[in-house]
Amino acid sequence: MDTEKVLNYLEELFPEPACELKFNSRFELLVSVILSAQCTDKRVNMVTKELFKKYSTPKDFANLKQEELEKEIKSCGFYHNKAKNIISCSKDILERFNGKVPGNIDDLMTLAGVGKKTANVVYSVGFGGDAIAVDTHVFRVSNRLGVHSKNPLECEKKLEEIIPKDKWSRAHHQLVLFGRYMCKAIKPNCKECELTGICEYYNERK
Ligand code: SF4
Repeated sequence: MDTEKVLNYLEELFPEPACELKFNSRFELLVSVILSAQCTDKRVNMVTKELFKKYSTPKDFANLKQEELEKEIKSCGFYHNKAKNIISCSKDILERFNGKVPGNIDDLMTLAGVGKKTANVVYSVGFGGDAIAVDTHVFRVSNRLGVHSKNPLECEKKLEEIIPKDKWSRAHHQLVLFGRYMCKAIKPNCKECELTGICEYYNERK
């Protein structure tokens, strides 16, 4: 991947990249990111707008019955597992982390339902840490541009090697936005894209 060209173009397109999830605390961010698996940020924001009015702390969620939470988050999909994970994650935060979301990736990954991608998002968005969370958009776009990775973890490692550390979080957001609005899974908008000259996906299909 021509990293410099890609990053410069992403800067032009998305000069102020940011997480599109809406939240008021690190814990709400964590809940939102768990809910966002296989679901759009737009849908998550619709659900959490009401959810966080009623429950917003680890204690609130730890005291919820699974069925109650399932009802609230049903439209996000995979609601059974997501409800289970959010409740046990809340209990973990209360019991092991004094009610506070832990601020490092290793501890975050010990929480129920928190994998590397979720931990990286919470660490970078919630704590200002450097991390590249590889979601479906980042994975697809990176591979189209020539990163050649077989799974998200390999993709993360390769991106970490070619992108300067202080740009990891920014590049993550820009790649997500680029995948969401330009380099879409079906029908990428190649006509408008200025990366056709270096895009392996585009050139293989020409
Ligand atoms: S040329 Fe098309 S496939 Fe390649 S990065 Fe641009 S939008 Fe995506």
